[in-house]
Amino acid sequence: MDMDFSAADIAFQAEVRAFLAAELPQRLRDGMNGTPSVFVEPDIGLEWQRILHAKGWLAYHWPVAAGGTGWTPVQRYIFEKECALADAPSLSVLGLRLVGPVIAHYGTPDQKARFLSRILTGEDLWCQGYSEPGSGSDLASLKTRAVRDGDRYIVNGSKIWTTHAHYADWMFCLARTDPDVKPQAGISFLLINMRQPGVTIRPIIGMAGDHEVNQVFLDDVEALVENRIGEEGQGWTIAKFLLENERGGSCAAPRLLADLDRLAGLAAVQPDGAGVLADDRDFSRRLARLRLEAEALETTELRILAELAQGRAPGPQTSLTKLVASSLRQHIDELTVECFGLDGLQLVTERPLYGNESPEPIGCKPAQLAMPTYLNSRAWTIFGGSNEVQKNIIAKTVLGL
Ligand SMILES: Cc1cc2nc3c(=O)[nH]c(=O)nc-3n(C[C@H](O)[C@H](O)[C@H](O)COP(=O)(O)OP(=O)(O)OC[C@H]3O[C@@H](n4cnc5c(N)ncnc54)[C@H](O)[C@@H]3O)c2cc1C
Repeated sequence: MDMDFSAADIAFQAEVRAFLAAELPQRLRDGMNGTPSVFVEPDIGLEWQRILHAKGWLAYHWPVAAGGTGWTPVQRYIFEKECALADAPSLSVLGLRLVGPVIAHYGTPDQKARFLSRILTGEDLWCQGYSEPGSGSDLASLKTRAVRDGDRYIVNGSKIWTTHAHYADWMFCLARTDPDVKPQAGISFLLINMRQPGVTIRPIIGMAGDHEVNQVFLDDVEALVENRIGEEGQGWTIAKFLLENERGGSCAAPRLLADLDRLAGLAAVQPDGAGVLADDRDFSRRLARLRLEAEALETTELRILAELAQGRAPGPQTSLTKLVASSLRQHIDELTVECFGLDGLQLVTERPLYGNESPEPIGCKPAQLAMPTYLNSRAWTIFGGSNEVQKNIIAKTVLGL
């Protein structure tokens, strides 16, 4: 693909920059910069979502017919890059990037009418009910059972690591509807209302003190047949479509490159012996190496976006970008902790770390965030399929091993 920006792309970039300068409140920028966890809290994420929705720029991952922007891959890239440079809050992936495109692709007209616009307005928040105790990497072994009873299913089981279940109105859930066929063939994709008796949410607090994930218990919970996406038994195919979007539907490089810029800026003022850390040859070498890897990732992501624009499915290369982006994320966060010396070791577990009530840092605010961010980013090489699982997919589907 042609990597040079056209005159129209440059004009679009200027339009995005002007919009961000005018419409992205400082409070939301501070919220994003003060968030050590992977997902931002709804107080800042939803506000940004509403601003983008009002502008018509929210559903840029979606087909135009479902409310998408119709942007070219280069425009999508420009938008994500400018948002990263401006410290815009990251958008909730669960509704916008995961279940939204699934409903747009596999849903009936009635399902599209009922669910899609409520995702965009933020009226409905979603969570992902895939993993179970004992069924993570080996997802096809999942045991949550859905038994048909007239026009509904009765669902029993437990889901774990369910991000933001404590905020969610709905769960998209993989459940076993037929235990007598091979594991992949007996799974269906159900939409479950979280606000009903029988749904119990138990928080899981992460190492850094954040409440992002939960265990969810489903006891005789109801899922209407009209809220099943696709046919009964088609859940595995839909789950794979969704996972490919989760791993590769967006660009990781812009945010990684913006964070590397930020780190370089911090190192330029961080005292080190008689000078500053940026003068340290070992530190500079490690920073440069990470930048080269992030730039290589950026090129790969642009190539994938170009393929998506031609109507091809994301495919196994999303495993490659997920693998590289996750490892880079962790290496950047590790170098950031090192940048601050002893101040980088402080671990504050109160939340939020933005706003007037946030605790005073030792040293500066970025130093206070370094360790919680580092601890949270351990999750990158696990969620959405661990590094080992991505390597298995690449070995099988790309290398033919
Ligand atoms: C922060 C966070 C948020 C998450 N959010 C969600 C969510 O919202 N919804 C949801 O459904 N799930 C979510 N997950 C769960 C995530 O998808 C699983 O943790 C992941 O798929 C791994 O499954 P597991 O934890 O059961 O580990 P296991 O599958 O038990 O794996 C344990 C270890 O064994 C390795 N391993 C397993 N199988 C193989 C193999 N075949 N070859 C080589 N190595 C292997 C793994 O790489 C890993 O190191 C989240 C996880 C985290 C950490």
